[in-house]
Amino acid sequence: MGALGVQLALSAIYFLFPRYGIVQYTLYEVFAGVAVAAIAYGVRRYRPMPWAPWVVFATGIAAFISGDIFTDVHPNATSPSSADVSYLIGYPLLAGTVVMLVVASGGYRRSGALVDATIVTLAFTVFQWIYVMYPAVHASGPLGGRVVLGILYPIMDIVLLGAAAGFFVTPAWRTPAFALLVLGMATQLIGDTAISLSPGYSGAGWTDWPFMASYIFWGAAALDPSMRRLGEPSPRAVGGVSRWRLAVLTAALLSVPIARVIADVQGRMIGVWVVAALWSAICLLVIARIAGILGSVERARGLLAEQNEELIQADRLKDEFIALVSHDLRTPLTSIIGYVELALDDGSDAPLDEERRRYLEVVARSSDRLLRLVDDLLLAARLQSGRFALNVAETDLQKVAEEVLDEMHGRAERKGVSLFIACDGPMIVEGDRRRLMQLLDNLLSNAIKFTPQGGRVELRVERALGGAALEVLDTGVGIEPGDEERIFDRFYRSASSVTEHVQGTGLGLFIARAIAERHGGSLVARRRENGGSAFRVELPAHGIVSFTETEGELVA
Ligand code: ADP
Repeated sequence: MGALGVQLALSAIYFLFPRYGIVQYTLYEVFAGVAVAAIAYGVRRYRPMPWAPWVVFATGIAAFISGDIFTDVHPNATSPSSADVSYLIGYPLLAGTVVMLVVASGGYRRSGALVDATIVTLAFTVFQWIYVMYPAVHASGPLGGRVVLGILYPIMDIVLLGAAAGFFVTPAWRTPAFALLVLGMATQLIGDTAISLSPGYSGAGWTDWPFMASYIFWGAAALDPSMRRLGEPSPRAVGGVSRWRLAVLTAALLSVPIARVIADVQGRMIGVWVVAALWSAICLLVIARIAGILGSVERARGLLAEQNEELIQADRLKDEFIALVSHDLRTPLTSIIGYVELALDDGSDAPLDEERRRYLEVVARSSDRLLRLVDDLLLAARLQSGRFALNVAETDLQKVAEEVLDEMHGRAERKGVSLFIACDGPMIVEGDRRRLMQLLDNLLSNAIKFTPQGGRVELRVERALGGAALEVLDTGVGIEPGDEERIFDRFYRSASSVTEHVQGTGLGLFIARAIAERHGGSLVARRRENGGSAFRVELPAHGIVSFTETEGELVA
């Protein structure tokens, strides 16, 4: 970058010297020579693989230098001159470098990008044709000169632009070396266009600057370490169309009508057959490109559907596995619990000493916890696969609530949380008593778990529109903002529960909501204004929704 800056600054000195003087001629060639030297240095220092494209590139610049020298010696030679021959050899060498790098990097396999490059090149050709080639072909003067200036040079520019555009198919197009190479080609094209649009050009003047800048950019490209990556093979990129690419395609499509309108305004002849042919080619390529994009979208969709199916299958297998394992764990667990109960039974002939009783009580509590966990896992797996049925009967919610609350007293006391119940009286709904108790158990144990000492937990049972409502209110930590819905997801636990190592599996609320919904009701959570959370279950008095055991299908 330092070399680039210094050279760009020095290039301004060129204009301080008299035009057509030996100093200007020499300075100009010095810049070109520095580019060749920079390439030689870059190749030696960074050892790019393959290195041949860079040698071809330096040869192209050398051909330009020889063209410049011929022009300096015979400034008024008529075309086609020796200078023309040198220049016309130089262009394909530059373009050839790009082709070699694209081939080395495997860029030619990216057909979509190649089509884009062709479209852009054709759009550029339209302008070259209208503004340079067509007028030159129809101008007066010797045929040789017209062919060289009006046809060969513009074609070389098109080749150069095509190469630069094609270069975008390489994966290295985001590197500084790539940007500098393309910048050099762009300034070269600007210089050529300026010359062809300024009649009477005879070397020297501001039009020289873009050419000098090309040499400087090319030299800098070879000095940047990223030059090594330009020809490196790379894995095939996944096809996609960026906004940038779409903009270029749109500009290419619009170029013809725009050129046509401008030419019309200027009263310029355009050679309508060639323009129509070029435009048709652009349109066909755009259509081909769109078809290609649609094709890859279609393929991606098929792939997605396949992967989706596999994921569903994997999810089902996981649920089946959990159900199987939990089911098998249940049998030995219930037997452990049964025998521990027997061992703890005071009525037995051999009474236990205090220490053994304590041990056995720990075993009993732990086994109970384990059984609850296994049951939750089993139930969650069943809910997921739809194999879950309710055992429906007329149930008094008041009784359910009181019973669950009784079971909770011990836990609340240990935690230092006060428990309250408010009930409007007996409240009959059609429901599964055991599951409704489980629902309330989950809500109340959460409320106690997430409420610090000295807090209060209240259970309300009240009439609601068409049924009954159960509400569990606490003065605890509250639900984290934005978590009101997610806490009902399977295995979801809020971040603070995880970081503070609060015990739990993230299944309690998932199961509670499923039970409420299978009863035709709902369960929602909200943050309370003065801190704490509120969970509200609404249940219809009738119209229970249940699922058949086998198919998990809605039957009532
Ligand atoms: P678990 O309690 O086993 O983690 P749950 O499904 O019962 O799983 O709860 C999921 C999450 O919802 C909990 O981790 C907790 O962050 C949040 N949560 C549940 N109940 C309350 C409550 N009463 N107050 C605050 N947060 C709660």
